[in-house]
Amino acid sequence: MIQIKFPDNSKRNFEKGTTVYEVAKSISEGLARNVLSAKYNDKVVEVSTPLDEDGEIQLFTWKNSEGKTAFWHSSAHVLAQAILILYPNAKLTIGPAIENGFYYDVDFGDHSISEKELVDLEKKFLELSKQKFVFKMRNATKNEALDFYKKEKNPYKVELIENLQDGNITFCDHSDFTDLCRGGHIPNTSFIKAVKLLNVAGAYWRGDEKNKQLTRIYGISFPKQKELTEYLELLEEAKKRDHRKIGKELELFTFSQKVGQGLPLWLPKGAALRERLEKFLKEAQKKAGYEQVISPHIGNKDLYITSGHYEKYGEDSFQPINTPAEGETFLLKPMNCPHHCEIYKTRPWSYKELPKRYAEFGTVYRYEQSGELHGLTRVRGFTQDDAHIFCTPDQLDQEFKNVIDLVLYVFNSLGFYDFKAQVSIRDPKNPKKYIGDTENWDKAEKSIIKATKEKNIEFEIEEGEAAFYGPKLDFMVNDALGRKWQLGTIQVDYNLPERFDLTYKGSDNELHRPVMIHRAPFGSLERFVAILLEHTAGNLPIWLAPKQVKLLSVSEKHEKYAKKVLNYLENNEIRAFLDNRNETIGKKIRDAEIEKVPFMLIIGEKEAEMGNISVRKHRKGDIGMMEIKNFVNLIKKEISKSISKFEN
Ligand SMILES: [Zn+2]
Ligand SMILES: [Zn+2]
Repeated sequence: MIQIKFPDNSKRNFEKGTTVYEVAKSISEGLARNVLSAKYNDKVVEVSTPLDEDGEIQLFTWKNSEGKTAFWHSSAHVLAQAILILYPNAKLTIGPAIENGFYYDVDFGDHSISEKELVDLEKKFLELSKQKFVFKMRNATKNEALDFYKKEKNPYKVELIENLQDGNITFCDHSDFTDLCRGGHIPNTSFIKAVKLLNVAGAYWRGDEKNKQLTRIYGISFPKQKELTEYLELLEEAKKRDHRKIGKELELFTFSQKVGQGLPLWLPKGAALRERLEKFLKEAQKKAGYEQVISPHIGNKDLYITSGHYEKYGEDSFQPINTPAEGETFLLKPMNCPHHCEIYKTRPWSYKELPKRYAEFGTVYRYEQSGELHGLTRVRGFTQDDAHIFCTPDQLDQEFKNVIDLVLYVFNSLGFYDFKAQVSIRDPKNPKKYIGDTENWDKAEKSIIKATKEKNIEFEIEEGEAAFYGPKLDFMVNDALGRKWQLGTIQVDYNLPERFDLTYKGSDNELHRPVMIHRAPFGSLERFVAILLEHTAGNLPIWLAPKQVKLLSVSEKHEKYAKKVLNYLENNEIRAFLDNRNETIGKKIRDAEIEKVPFMLIIGEKEAEMGNISVRKHRKGDIGMMEIKNFVNLIKKEISKSISKFEN
């Protein structure tokens, strides 16, 4: 007999050789029908695996991310099988499960795959999956594995196997198809009831531009047709909300190949939007005791050697800049922290003067491969809403709470209400990996957890996810489509104070190391604006909207009165614009709706005569005729409702 422990800590005895499936069945028929994958003693096992020793079991269904991974990993095998049936000369390379679905990188020779061919592949896929092929794992020696793929004339798999250790090579068979694989499958192919091959992209073998370009086919599959339909609807909605599309409609930003890829150009309305975001955060930060500093866009190479960033960003990033002077080398700034450390070092500090909180909207540059660039979310130059706090270990508790308050204020003011925190702490099994003394780490981890609890934030603890230099807290935000984004990071750092030899004089008159906190509630302005546009579909909170009011004149005759109204609104600090084009009022309303302007004021014969305006609200319609000063009161109330003051 063997003893199996369940996640609720209960234990039961089973006969040796009982399979995972039978264990699930002993709990309930329903679970047995739905179990997709499992872990035994923390190792991925197949549902058909017989269990031969005592252990802890975890069973996964479609509801768990592990279940989905097994589902999509298995789907990649079926896709590969379909590909080889329709394209016998294709060479398979790798095909992993990803966050949403799976892909397979394939060498199709000179052939490029069309939309129609994707549909044929989907048909073949479903024809195969219906046949209930069982996935079976099998060990192979290195020579057997090499022989197999040499016969298949597949140099990619041969290269992969050559890098593997003999004795650790496994194949997965289903039907008459075999793939190199580490395991973790659903029981059989018939679980896959719906599949969609989403798109085709180019990908270099092993991600290296010098290698051959392969065809990457992205797909997603589901246990029910209905789930696929819902997913495709969500994708459609996401397309409508694509920040690149909305950014164009609202005239916020653009890119120019001539300026360089991954380098956004902010148009006047976008620049004004950024300025409002900066002002909003600066005001709150001022109340929270931050001081603004400014540092240059480049720094001496030695600075980044001291900070360790040269090692991290040097070779794989923008290359150093040399000057006509000999031996003088600069780097584009990849991080603001080293500069702020040098600012801290301008004079000695006493514990009584700490914390020092230096804030900067600092623009940094990091090289990204051109294939990785995406709108404002992946760029090569971006501005962080950065700040570094230098404090004593005893102040960490309070500082952490203060930073959380600030982050929550930002989320609230910008309409993100659905979020979770992730606390990354040390791996208890690997204490040598971390720098800084154990006592301080204990204290910092406790501070973070305590602060998160006190603020009533739902959180998860991730053991082993901390950086080597300190624990951290990340906020994961769900947007209106339920997509997860990481926003707002608070990171404790024991490393840079050490590397820069930062000190303060304690109450004992001795020199001590301050603790450093890096924090950025937005992350970067570029990425934040992108997420905000997709979350709100461009309907920004009115305090932030590029245009708050659009005046629509019915005809030329009313232009004079319209300009008077415009003037009045501008004097009341309302962002108003006049549409006096020679277009019908219907067309002007439609255009203002596309621009998501919160209020439209219609100015025609009647309005001009009475000295009034007719008000239309975006997505609501007419709300009636009123005096201009009443409208100013109304909109001011709406604006102040949409943003609260930061209380410290
Ligand atoms: Zn597999
Ligand atoms: Zn930093």
